[in-house]
Amino acid sequence: MSNTAVIHLLSPLLANQIAAGEVVERPASVAKELLENALDAGANRIDIEAEEGGVKLLRIRDNGRGIAHQQLPLALERHATSKIVELADLEGVSTLGFRGEALASISSVSRLCLTSRTADAEQAWQVEAQGRQMEPLVQPAAHPQGTTVQVSDLFYNTPARRKFLRTERTEFDHLQEVVKRMALARFDVAFHLRHNNRSIYALHSATDEQSKARRIAQLLGDEFMEQALPIDIERNGLRLWGWVGLPTFSRSQADMQYFYVNGRTVRDKLVGHAVRQAYRDVLYGGRFPAFVLYLELDPNKVDVNVHPTKHEVRFRDGRSVHDFLYSALNRTLAEVRPGDAVSAPA
Ligand code: ADP
Ligand code: MG
Repeated sequence: MSNTAVIHLLSPLLANQIAAGEVVERPASVAKELLENALDAGANRIDIEAEEGGVKLLRIRDNGRGIAHQQLPLALERHATSKIVELADLEGVSTLGFRGEALASISSVSRLCLTSRTADAEQAWQVEAQGRQMEPLVQPAAHPQGTTVQVSDLFYNTPARRKFLRTERTEFDHLQEVVKRMALARFDVAFHLRHNNRSIYALHSATDEQSKARRIAQLLGDEFMEQALPIDIERNGLRLWGWVGLPTFSRSQADMQYFYVNGRTVRDKLVGHAVRQAYRDVLYGGRFPAFVLYLELDPNKVDVNVHPTKHEVRFRDGRSVHDFLYSALNRTLAEVRPGDAVSAPA
């Protein structure tokens, strides 16, 4: 081997596969990206079909605004997005996506078929990409207004990644969790989930309080709803609403904690800390609270471009967000204190 390194540009396929390493870990992460796209397209009904945990097949159909015929190949290109134009748009971005990487990444590690029809189009069109070796071919297809993305044989061309996939059951559990998280975020959207031809969720859109509560019960169980306090507190442009589980409904794991910032699901240290502090006086013995909480604030006060998976956020004024969360939850939980406190797991 020579000592002189030769610098060359990565092929688009390889560049996309490397980028896929960051966001496409398993079928559940594919589902997350595709569901976000469907929601960004304004869909109010999304159908998710999976086979073999989503590894063999994941098909997501929405009734959103669709993609125009001549734009279809571009949608699969890396750094191609309709959601932002300039850097300033990132401040206060309200769509779930904006990086223009998901379809390029997913199509580089699977066999992807994208079918779409816009409201004014006379028919639907379809592009297929198999590991992105070829120029995508655009063909006519049958489809109502909206988009279907079909992803087959995930990681078929990247055996090293495929090896990290777990059992069908485990992969589907992760996938179902992603759908559940989205369904908790968007009551106005109907979600249907099927696995190996079995219906798992059939959630109608929920507009009034009663049907929202019914959806929560469907997703988290009746017991949670029976033992949860509703919360809705607003202060200085911050609003926190949702349901906080009573200490009597504590868990042995942190597996029922749903927190959304402006509709985006996040796992945030600052949020976690504020919640733990608030529960500290009512929950002991290594138990974890259950909750579904929605924080709403001015999009300009929170930065979502922290990590490619967008699980983390950065608050412009973290301290006041922390204080607000703590005091809102503390006040709500004070209703059950003292006396109701759970001392140790049963
Ligand atoms: P991003 O969501 O970051 O823009 P993606 O790679 O996920 O990047 O998608 C690229 C583009 O393809 C989007 O900006 C959007 O214009 C279009 N697109 C993808 N999925 C859909 C969909 N389900 N409905 C309508 N347009 C879509
Ligand atoms: Mg996207």
